[in-house]
Amino acid sequence: MHNAALAAMGLAPDWSYGAIEVSPEGFAETVAALKDDGYAGVNVTVPHKLAALAVATEASEAARAVGAANTLTFRDGGIHAENTDTVGVIEALPGPVRGKRALVMGAGGSARAAVWALREAGADVHVWNRTRNKAERLAAEMGAGLETEGAELIVNATTVGLRQANEVATPGEAGGSDLTALPAVAEGLKAEVVLDLVYGSRKTELIARAEAAGAVAIDGLEVLVCQGAASLRIWTGEEPPIDVMRAAAGESPA
Ligand code: NAP
Repeated sequence: MHNAALAAMGLAPDWSYGAIEVSPEGFAETVAALKDDGYAGVNVTVPHKLAALAVATEASEAARAVGAANTLTFRDGGIHAENTDTVGVIEALPGPVRGKRALVMGAGGSARAAVWALREAGADVHVWNRTRNKAERLAAEMGAGLETEGAELIVNATTVGLRQANEVATPGEAGGSDLTALPAVAEGLKAEVVLDLVYGSRKTELIARAEAAGAVAIDGLEVLVCQGAASLRIWTGEEPPIDVMRAAAGESPA
């Protein structure tokens, strides 16, 4: 999706985007080598998001608050860390969240980004997690609540549904998974908007159920596209064509 955007922006072939696999031991050295090679920056994914913040010489408020970075920018001789997962969550949503009650399910890295971003955007954020003490810690740290009922926006930031979303099946058929552990599902998905950070080659069961319940359902691919566009915006200083990225991401194997 990045290369499709760079082509549509008229920046290719000067600009290009590629993927490399890095071991945790080799992470800092690889980033330094890419910087010296003239790269504009890098996206970083699990398990390197904490290390990415650690190698940075400066970091945005979002990256510092979330405690992780997914975007490094090489500029002025230094390394700037940003967390565009926060932007991705907000931009994937259909409208403003100020004053709305949101329930974020999960307390891992993506939940931290979602809770921080939604709080910043003015939502009344609540957290639920399977391991309750992690939800309590996250809520206390970020000024969120712990109420599972009454949410107008539900965000699934757990890994529930991930395996099923990637199982091979008839196209269009929703992946089955045991969602009943998630309180928003047990309570009947009464929210106006349901955002599932999970995505794969099949529609997740949470998305299928949210659609059936009449909610606006947004899948994790949209968040992926929005966080990717936010990174490209930082590096190029230009607005990436989101439709081009969306189309390219939809065509790629998940
Ligand atoms: P993580 O840090 O490993 O956290 C996993 C979370 O899932 C924890 O809160 C864990 O709860 C919970 N969980 C795992 N199994 C569960 C179960 N059976 N029932 C209930 N909760 C369960 O993962 P992450 O990096 O935050 O990622 C979470 C999901 O978001 C993944 O599916 C990932 O692919 C997706 N994601 C998507 C994007 C995007 O751009 N769309 C970006 C980032 C992540 P415990 O604390 O109790 O273990």
